[in-house]
Amino acid sequence: MKEEERSVWKQLLFHSITFLVLGCCLMFVVSTFHLDITGNRLEETGAYDNTVSAKEKWKQEEGSYLQCEKRVDILKKVGKYYIQIRKPQNTNYSVRLEDCYQEKRVRLYLYGMQKESLSFDDLEVVCQGKNKKKVYECFQTGTSISYEEQSEKKSTAILSFQVDKIYGYCLYEDSKYIYLACKNPKEVYNKIIVLDAGHGGKDTGTDAVTGNWSESYYNLDFVKKIEEQWSEKDGKLYITRWNDKRCSLQSRVRFANSVSADYFISIHCNSSDEAGGSGLEALYKSNQYKEESKQMAQICLEELTKATGMTNRGALNGQEIFIIRKAKMPTVLLEMGFLTSREDVIYLQSEDNRVKMAKTVCNAIKKGMSIIK
Ligand SMILES: [Zn+2]
Repeated sequence: MKEEERSVWKQLLFHSITFLVLGCCLMFVVSTFHLDITGNRLEETGAYDNTVSAKEKWKQEEGSYLQCEKRVDILKKVGKYYIQIRKPQNTNYSVRLEDCYQEKRVRLYLYGMQKESLSFDDLEVVCQGKNKKKVYECFQTGTSISYEEQSEKKSTAILSFQVDKIYGYCLYEDSKYIYLACKNPKEVYNKIIVLDAGHGGKDTGTDAVTGNWSESYYNLDFVKKIEEQWSEKDGKLYITRWNDKRCSLQSRVRFANSVSADYFISIHCNSSDEAGGSGLEALYKSNQYKEESKQMAQICLEELTKATGMTNRGALNGQEIFIIRKAKMPTVLLEMGFLTSREDVIYLQSEDNRVKMAKTVCNAIKKGMSIIK
């Protein structure tokens, strides 16, 4: 081999080795960075990768995918009471939470699971609060796991947990666990509205001048329709009565006070002994919450008048009414027409009109919350 040729081969060998060394360095940097952002060893990043790549499936199944975080960061956020669920690895699932506060129960729907992939051994409750004993008792006696078949291979795992009182819930996830944090509702939700359907059970309220429905039915129907229109992003909406059972005035107020609601809105229909009483009216709280209560009452009345064409009889001081007096927040009692007025009842009997009124109240509450300081 000539001297020139030898030199070319040497140079070629030198460049190849340099290229190989640089390549190895680059791979090392990339893998270290990956380790750093996920906080997991490479073989454990399956869940993280699944969480990101499966986002498009969100629309097909009803749940949503959680942002995977480091355990150390999650433990700073979960608070004093949380439930930890060990995740089955390499499963592409999404989560939906259902707050069944009426039953003091919370359900997690894990879509896309394999059947029987979770057992009680995968669930653990951690509580450091004063109510620790009650919390453990609820967890031990009131936890259930069931499965609903989605397809041949996939199922929805339904985890149902009993809780000792009403909580606001947050979900977190790391590579091994899902964390269901149970917090004070006020810590979780920006705004809280408690909506109350007046009367119920044997207390039917005012009898309507025509038709089968008494006041308690109209009130409940309105509240359910408002709830249907409400979107969680506008704030948390709780309702005090969701069926035709009796509900004491004390328990309604206790409910609103216990969740520290921003507004307490009670839905009623009016009555009058005199002939000719008809239209919309509202009662407001008149202590330190007078301004917010009165403004909210007026906004609801104005919007309802615009939508229905009914007479606006104005907002009145309702301080002598038990629930208004005892509630510790801005409070409004809305009278959605007179059941002693034939004209009002005929209007209220139309499903379309009631939907329109419910939508209007829903929008008026949102409007009120955005402008009242
Ligand atoms: Zn009433």
